[in-house]
Amino acid sequence: MHYSAFRIFKEGLTGNKGWKPVWREPEPKAEYDIVIIGGGGHGLSTAYYLAKEHGLTNIAVLEKGWIGSGNVGRNTTIIRSNYMLPGNQPFYELSMKLWEGLEQDFNYNAMVSQRSILNLFHSDPQRDAFVRRANAMLMSGADAELASAEDLRKELPFLDFDNARFPIKGGLFQRRGGTVRHDAVAWGYARGADSRGVDILQNCEVTGFDIEGGTVCGVQTSRGPIRAKKIAMCVAGSSGRVAAMAGMRLPIESHVLQAFVTEGLKPTLPGVITFGAGHFYVSQSDKGGLVFGGDIDGYNSYAQRGNLPVVEDVCEGGMAIMPMIGRARLLRSWGGLMDMSMDGSPFIDATHIEGLYFNGGWCYGGFKATPASGFCYAHLLAMGTPHPVATQMRLDRFKTGSLIDEKGVGNQPNLH
Ligand SMILES: Cc1cc2nc3c(=O)[nH]c(=O)nc-3n(C[C@H](O)[C@H](O)[C@H](O)COP(=O)(O)OP(=O)(O)OC[C@H]3O[C@@H](n4cnc5c(N)ncnc54)[C@H](O)[C@@H]3O)c2cc1C
Repeated sequence: MHYSAFRIFKEGLTGNKGWKPVWREPEPKAEYDIVIIGGGGHGLSTAYYLAKEHGLTNIAVLEKGWIGSGNVGRNTTIIRSNYMLPGNQPFYELSMKLWEGLEQDFNYNAMVSQRSILNLFHSDPQRDAFVRRANAMLMSGADAELASAEDLRKELPFLDFDNARFPIKGGLFQRRGGTVRHDAVAWGYARGADSRGVDILQNCEVTGFDIEGGTVCGVQTSRGPIRAKKIAMCVAGSSGRVAAMAGMRLPIESHVLQAFVTEGLKPTLPGVITFGAGHFYVSQSDKGGLVFGGDIDGYNSYAQRGNLPVVEDVCEGGMAIMPMIGRARLLRSWGGLMDMSMDGSPFIDATHIEGLYFNGGWCYGGFKATPASGFCYAHLLAMGTPHPVATQMRLDRFKTGSLIDEKGVGNQPNLH
């Protein structure tokens, strides 16, 4: 069913009785060409691009819960491509370009809003680092704009420019950054993949792999065994647990990340703002709530809920740059499972087991990567070679020393 203004008008006049389910609920087949484990944003976008770009449709996406129950429906919805390193920047810029055409592409309103992202800086050395990042962004075709404190005072007068510890000296804008309605991204990709023939199997948990002579040939699931020529892991915070079923140990730790939303307020924040001297980022949803987050909880966990010390820490970050946030009442908070890699960058690669592929290690930043991750993973699965913008996202980079250490903090997931 194609969505359009005309369709809304017609359904409005006929009692809204013609809307169809957005995707089918098929029974699992005994065998597929490709099985994707994980119905989050990345698994669904991979299925979508396999079907759309490569004409491969004998595919199943296996999701242990329901579509959107993982991080894709739990994140703070920020998209940006303000990365610096060659292994990352072209990949995230490809993602930004895909976001820019996504709604027309999959014919679904994902509320892509390029309302800008601003990274504040608070010292002269930090400004120099941001200038370097801005130059790297410009060189790969992204947009970047440096703003002085005077510029920001006019645009964002509520910020605490003269804070005694963290005075605001300016900021780096990416005007094309912004927010996207997170669960609509899952629904749009699911609908697009399903309409091309992909089976989306909800409540279908993978419980084991069938591996014969070093080649994977199927999975065991809560809905029975399923054979496949290729199997693609895409389970974000559950990466370690699922890979362990295939006997693999990954350079990834799972950590909880919390998000917070206040009561609805009148329009206050024009875009996304991040604190440069601590970990705090905030935007305002279309419903009016201030949506914000900060650090991971700091210890390994598979619980999708967080703890109070980080609530305090995040709120302190907010108070340091915009004290008015202290007047807003917190409505909800929740947690998601982060697949934190040892250098803060992701993996899109084949494993040492023939036919078994891995996508993960997205840390805090996998939502913005959703389109490019699916696009590049689909390329790898269909063509057998990495997409040109994802060649460095290799699983063996800790053996070869070719890290993509974006922030220069090494193998400490709690610092990424
Ligand atoms: C609070 C929070 C805020 C965030 N904010 C941002 C942000 O502003 N911007 C940004 O870019 N990123 C953000 N992120 C990160 C981003 O959400 C994730 O990196 C990204 O969503 C991960 O990819 P995914 O969507 O495929 O994961 P998920 O949606 O978690 O998908 C993985 C799926 O695998 C399924 N699964 C697991 N095990 C199995 C199994 N055995 N069998 C079958 N299925 C299985 C899970 O149920 C899950 O649905 C945030 C994350 C959190 C938690």
